Amino acid sequence: MSVVGLDRIAMAQERLSGRVRHTPLIVSNNLSARCGFPIYLKLESHQPTGSFKLRGATNAVLSLNDEAKKRGLVTASTGNHGRALAHAAKAEGARAVICMSALVPANKVDAVKALGAEVRIVGRSQDDAQEEVERLVREEGLTAIPPFDHADVIAGQGTIGLEIAEARPETELVLVPLSGGGLAAGVAAAIKGRLPQARVIGISMERGAAMNESLRAGKPVQVEELETLADSLGGGIGLENRYTFAMCRDLLDDVVLLSEEEIAGGIRHAFRTEGEIVEGAGAVGIAALLAKKIDVRGPTVVLVSGRNIGEARHRQIVDTDSVAISAGARGR
Ligand SMILES: *Cc1c(COP(=O)(O)O)cnc(C)c1O
Repeated sequence: MSVVGLDRIAMAQERLSGRVRHTPLIVSNNLSARCGFPIYLKLESHQPTGSFKLRGATNAVLSLNDEAKKRGLVTASTGNHGRALAHAAKAEGARAVICMSALVPANKVDAVKALGAEVRIVGRSQDDAQEEVERLVREEGLTAIPPFDHADVIAGQGTIGLEIAEARPETELVLVPLSGGGLAAGVAAAIKGRLPQARVIGISMERGAAMNESLRAGKPVQVEELETLADSLGGGIGLENRYTFAMCRDLLDDVVLLSEEEIAGGIRHAFRTEGEIVEGAGAVGIAALLAKKIDVRGPTVVLVSGRNIGEARHRQIVDTDSVAISAGARGR
């Protein structure tokens, strides 16, 4: 049973109209020639905060009443979700508080502040930051907006699927980066609802793919978090997962895993051949095609989910033909 259905996603699309970008869907001549079918790139990397997470965060903020907006929204994410929530809150005149541990690098703290959010530094781990989120909810009445396991967040991400189905109804396959599964669940619900013939495949890294392990185990399981070039795909799915596990289990046709070298290849191709700056998590669909890990049988859309990668790291990858795995930033 899919918990977030087409109705809810269509409602999100109406709400988000004019508030987030209807992103470009471009053909890749190079990938099309390699695969023998038209390959399109859906460039969510072109959203104002550099990732699709703006859709889910904005939809979640818009679903709150004025009272709740005034009390504020809170999350512990220092990555793309934190940025998105800060941006969405500011745009809607809501207060946003981002909780971070003292170990979060200054540039990330500054990036969130620059988007107009309050930063609360607590403890020395992500768990400490999450505890502060729960305290603010309990004691000060703030609303927690989690990065993926939330119906409005999933519906917001699902609007990408509607845009794909509207622009390219002939689509037979969609490749979606997969971590907590908010993106994959929403996009798969929209695609399967509008284009029942199309397959949807989730792509993760080999190093610490929590949703993949959980799907294999038949229930949410914890995995060791490892450094990876696809840092936005790190982290667990939550042992108390409410929505995304069941939706990914019911809606995804397959999950494909990639090595670090393959992910680097995706980043490099995006830059050298497509002229796009893409972070590791955003490049996994391209990488999977280049690695010939996908059986392409018709028109295919590759969801390019984000562009937030450090400049030095990006240059290191695109300037060379190998990759040293170190110093990857972590966190959604
Ligand atoms: C969060 C994120 C993902 C994964 O999204 P989930 O909903 O957690 O599966 C993929 N790519 C980028 C760039 C992200 O920020």
